[in-house]
Amino acid sequence: CGIVGYVGDRQAAEFLLEGLSKLEYRGYDSAGIAVYDGENIRVEKCVGRLAALREKIKDDVPQGTIGIGHTRWATHGRPSDVNAHPHTDCSGDFVVVHNGIIENYLALKEELIEKGHAFKSETDTEVVAHLLEEVYNGDFEESVREVLRRIEGSYSLVFMCRQHPDRLICTKQDNPLVIGLGDGENFIASDIPAIINRTRRTYILNDGEMAVVKKDAIEITNRKGELVTKKVFEVNWNA
Ligand code: GLU
Repeated sequence: CGIVGYVGDRQAAEFLLEGLSKLEYRGYDSAGIAVYDGENIRVEKCVGRLAALREKIKDDVPQGTIGIGHTRWATHGRPSDVNAHPHTDCSGDFVVVHNGIIENYLALKEELIEKGHAFKSETDTEVVAHLLEEVYNGDFEESVREVLRRIEGSYSLVFMCRQHPDRLICTKQDNPLVIGLGDGENFIASDIPAIINRTRRTYILNDGEMAVVKKDAIEITNRKGELVTKKVFEVNWNA
């Protein structure tokens, strides 16, 4: 339902919580964030409003300068703590947030269970994290591309990988996703109000485009892997 991402030099959780609060008007049933703490990707999530998540982490806010966040509107699996996003693979090295529906998740899930993956949630989204772990070959970008070849449906997705803690990878199909261009930091969101307090310079992703977002560089490619040159879209209205 709502997606945010941050990479830069500031504390990621600060923007993630602020950004998600700007998307509250869309409605949701659970919320969560994942932040790389220098060693591992720490995930905190729970059912309920953002206030419940804030309360849960108030004495121990995840520390780190890269992270992703999500507010969920359940389509597959009831609203619950385990079904809340972000979702991870078995190792916890691959973390994902997702808006939309993975239509072929059941077939993928059966295949992955066969290969030994243990699932924690009832969501369609969790297969994406396990699939990334399954196809991972050391090249984060190529591996995400392989995942995209295998999943069907509608999505905005943001990926984190513990082995590549300097970047987020995001992509979309039939769901919105925007990148906010900062100075030595960059933002990702499913909608402009989440980032408008931080920057007005944006890239609006088109279906099939994939962006590798680092704090001081953004590379956007199409499905074929060809570089895409995007025009900066300057937001001139107020949220
Ligand atoms: N289909 C996913 C789920 O049920 C994502 C829902 C959403 O867009 O928030 O968890």
